[in-house]
Amino acid sequence: MIQGKTVGKISYDGDLAGFNDVKRIDANGAALFPGFTDSHCHPFEYGWLKRNVDLRGVRNITGLRLRLLARVQRSKPGEWVTGMGWDQEAFSEGRMPSRMDIDDLSGRNPVALTRVCGHIALLNTAAIRILDLEDRQGPEIMRDGDGRLTGIVKEGVLEAVNSKIPRNAEVCACDLLTVEAEAARCGITTLHAIVSSSGYQEELQALASLYAVGLLSLRYRVYVPPEALEYVRDKDLRSRLSGSKVRINGVKIYADGSLGARTAALRLPYSDDPGNSGILRHTDEELEVLVDAADEDGYQVIVHAIGDRAVEQAIQAISRVTGARNPRRHRIEHASLTPKDLMAKIEKHSIRTAVQPLFVTSDVWAEARLGEERIRDLYPLKSMISGGIVASGGSDSPIEQMNPLMGVWAAMVRGGYEPQESLAIEEALSLYTSNASSNGLDVAGSELTEGATANLTLLDSDIEGMHPAMVRKVGIAATLVDGSLIFASAGFDA
Ligand SMILES: [Zn+2]
Repeated sequence: MIQGKTVGKISYDGDLAGFNDVKRIDANGAALFPGFTDSHCHPFEYGWLKRNVDLRGVRNITGLRLRLLARVQRSKPGEWVTGMGWDQEAFSEGRMPSRMDIDDLSGRNPVALTRVCGHIALLNTAAIRILDLEDRQGPEIMRDGDGRLTGIVKEGVLEAVNSKIPRNAEVCACDLLTVEAEAARCGITTLHAIVSSSGYQEELQALASLYAVGLLSLRYRVYVPPEALEYVRDKDLRSRLSGSKVRINGVKIYADGSLGARTAALRLPYSDDPGNSGILRHTDEELEVLVDAADEDGYQVIVHAIGDRAVEQAIQAISRVTGARNPRRHRIEHASLTPKDLMAKIEKHSIRTAVQPLFVTSDVWAEARLGEERIRDLYPLKSMISGGIVASGGSDSPIEQMNPLMGVWAAMVRGGYEPQESLAIEEALSLYTSNASSNGLDVAGSELTEGATANLTLLDSDIEGMHPAMVRKVGIAATLVDGSLIFASAGFDA
């Protein structure tokens, strides 16, 4: 039992005589919350990135080359070298990298380096040959003014890259344990874990085997791609993974790409690329078929939609199966560019959303992409919450860091733009607590009530009334899942 000041729903001072094995923890005036949930993350990608070329934070192409070189030198000839996290907007060269920038380092190894958004990749010439892309045409394969491949590929081509890279369930299991350590350190007790379309078999095997031997410390709400549904059925995974610890909740479908890569589908062209309105992954009919099939099977459907055209398409497909109250809690992931007319439809059909507040402070190029008019409808978090839409918070890790308090901070400060869309601290916290539980179908898992299972996050200070700028300095004192301490800071006395 944790005593002390709480900003959560209760401070328990009742009689503990009737309980066996009572443990008292002095919270020392700090704040206690229902365990934080990250309602949109890619744990296997995060673990994978930790083993590969981590290009997050690289400021120029020379830096990208140095990190790539360090990895190439440790690789066997012919082995794929992969990485993620570069962002040309942050490069001092002010341009996209090309295969010419990396070919001299990596002739013996095919290389695929994914942009931070996960929707674009840089390939070297060896990779282009293996994938047989030289003569392929289409908007997903970039060419220079002379018609030569630049090495930049988009969207569907990335799946071809992934299918070439061997995976196995043991490595995926190690990756998941890497994620658990980081998540526990961030106060996270539950992950809404998105399984990838290229590696779902190995990822689900890893999850199921760690679960079977009792090695998982976090709680998982799993979302699989439509391609995985047959495998899930064949292996009877829905009943094998159906407890309070691990449960297959739903199906994740992509409607479009990302704003950073200019593949998010917009109603009107990009302000900084007038011939381009992005890429819809499916026709309206295709998306409806996918949504219908998942809904009929009793799954919660979550649709990735960033551009307003994709959000519109997702609403159209989902609203056909929500009825008045959306009992399966179908969601739109990101819902980044949501003008008023679409916001009203989301509300009307009780569609849920999963938002990533750190995108607001990271997407420094957003106004260039959308212009000053449209940017007013980008990440409208306050409008969502005050309109009664149940929005939950997520990191989209490894795209953003996992720490929910960084998300709370970003939702409050918004990097200075559209300040009227800033959230108050209680609203920002609810993204990662009550709203996140509700958005993962865990109706009863989100409150501090007597007799409830202890899924708890204890901070190292009291954040009630704290200045927004200070919130990101707050640390985690302890994280408990199902009553077990899975993380305690050095200064925490349990
Ligand atoms: Zn994502």
